[in-house]
Amino acid sequence: MLLPAKVTAQAFQEVSYSPEKTQFTLFAPNEAKNVKVRIYKEGIDGKAIKTVKMLRTANKQWTATVKGDLMGRFYTFDMGKGECPGVFAKAVGVNGKRGAIIDMKATDPQGWDGDHRPVTKSPADLIVYELHHRDFSVARPEAQYPGKFLALTEPWAINHLKSLGINAVHILPSYDYGSVDETRLDTPQYNWGYDPVNYNVPEGGYSTDPYRPEVRIREFKRMVQALHKAGIRVILDVVYNHTYDIEHSNFQRTYPDYYYRKTADGAYSNGSGCGNETASEQPMMRQFMMESVKYWINEYHIDGFRFDLMGCHDIETMNAIRKVVDNIDPTIFIYGEGWSAGACALPTEQLAMKANIQQMPGIAAFSDELRDALRGPFSDDTKTGWLGGAPDCVESLKFGIVGAIAHPQVDLSKVNYSKDPWAAEPTQMMSYVSCHDDMCLVDRLRASIPGIGDDELLRLDLLAQTAVFTSQGVPFMLSGEELLRTKKGVHNSFESPDSINQLDWQNEARYQKALNYYRKLIQLRKDHPAFRLGNADLVRKHLEFLDAPADVVAFRLKNYAGRDEWRNIIVVLNNGRQPQNICVPEGCYTVVCDNGNIELKEQGLGTITGKNVVVSPQSALIIHD
Ligand code: CA
Repeated sequence: MLLPAKVTAQAFQEVSYSPEKTQFTLFAPNEAKNVKVRIYKEGIDGKAIKTVKMLRTANKQWTATVKGDLMGRFYTFDMGKGECPGVFAKAVGVNGKRGAIIDMKATDPQGWDGDHRPVTKSPADLIVYELHHRDFSVARPEAQYPGKFLALTEPWAINHLKSLGINAVHILPSYDYGSVDETRLDTPQYNWGYDPVNYNVPEGGYSTDPYRPEVRIREFKRMVQALHKAGIRVILDVVYNHTYDIEHSNFQRTYPDYYYRKTADGAYSNGSGCGNETASEQPMMRQFMMESVKYWINEYHIDGFRFDLMGCHDIETMNAIRKVVDNIDPTIFIYGEGWSAGACALPTEQLAMKANIQQMPGIAAFSDELRDALRGPFSDDTKTGWLGGAPDCVESLKFGIVGAIAHPQVDLSKVNYSKDPWAAEPTQMMSYVSCHDDMCLVDRLRASIPGIGDDELLRLDLLAQTAVFTSQGVPFMLSGEELLRTKKGVHNSFESPDSINQLDWQNEARYQKALNYYRKLIQLRKDHPAFRLGNADLVRKHLEFLDAPADVVAFRLKNYAGRDEWRNIIVVLNNGRQPQNICVPEGCYTVVCDNGNIELKEQGLGTITGKNVVVSPQSALIIHD
């Protein structure tokens, strides 16, 4: 198809304000009839104060000029499919039904021009913390803004994140979504938010006043600013792969059927498992995604993107996005779910699946190999993995430790899901054991290991995260795991009440040992470049697996890997209920992690001399010389 001559965000819609008049433009099909713009006094209810017919001006562009000063007014487009604010509204009224005319510059908090992105050299240096606004703050006793963007500006929140040591928060959907009714926020409502309505506007439910369009925008920026000040990057969860539904979507209401894929028999395809799937390969959908990402970076200073069901998008689109992002700042990190939730109406070889990641340099995918090797398969919560002593998990665990790259000591024929090393670089693999989907780690351990006691639970939890944080991929953790969070066994808590999803901050005192271990484990990674080499050749050169008893995984990061101050680092992971003996190269080693304790001070937990070490049950041993 022909595109408008210069494709920018304005190609989709533009609201060009002056005190005398406002000009509206809209991207809509040539064959449309009777396209109108309506002006309202309020963001919801009430009759239009003006209705103006739009005229076709160029290929698929429609325009109308409305006289008078419209600052603070609301608008909708209407081409007979139902009113909507357009696909690229930048400000909206309550529940995102109408666009709003505001002064965007006036939404900038004080000092916004001086806001800057915290420095990270390599994605391997990131420690990603996946957080839902409501989970994180709703039950914090001293929170002034429980469940809101502003909670992340509060000292208690910043202190917790900083003392944990993470340097990136990945916020669950924070664009305007549909499943929480913003007109009744006094009633507790909960949703993860994977049901996008307005892609380029923050969610009203997380603002202190969803009726005033500028409030959510300013509060979102204040959140970013506070996190940046604390040295923490902000990663946005973006869900371009589907919309809440087709009929009510802004895409459908401005350009029917253009933005969605259909199957050969003409039905809407459902690769998202949510009833529809967008068509990233359509030139204007691709452009939409590129412009949207650019907009979040430029307007909101966003530092990274997590693509929901990235496997629904095509490779060309993801590479095009990587390129526009590189032009702004190559350190902005992009990763996604390298799978879809159903069959997509596009050939698999064109899709941004995990297996095709090597064709997408600079883009990472989650490793279900490592996750499931550790805790058990996605499909069955009652099955365990290596943590609970399941057989044949070791090669998958090793595959995760090297960062899903080719490594001479990983036998791919024995890896659970992939028979190929799908990552070209270890920074293309997200290393994790749990995320918002599925059970959190504590619940999974309880569900999959019958009769597990509290002591064993703690040991295995810490052991799992030690595997994650010493692996060469990009480490990622679910918010609250450091407090041994439980969701009371609920597997898919996307709309469960706060009582299931909220972090219980009493656990800070209850599980001090766990919290301290998480902090020190993260610090260990940050202090030692050997754990984050960031390059496949360096991993192959410096990381070697050592001979170990069955089910024990031991590896050495040798010869000052990554110019580490430590010459050799040995990590031994023991899932068994018995202590294990391991042969190591003869030497005098300092112990930094043993039996659920980490000591980062120079003398560590003591020294070991010789060529034999003993690793305690269900724990990690880390030593160095
Ligand atoms: Ca909303």
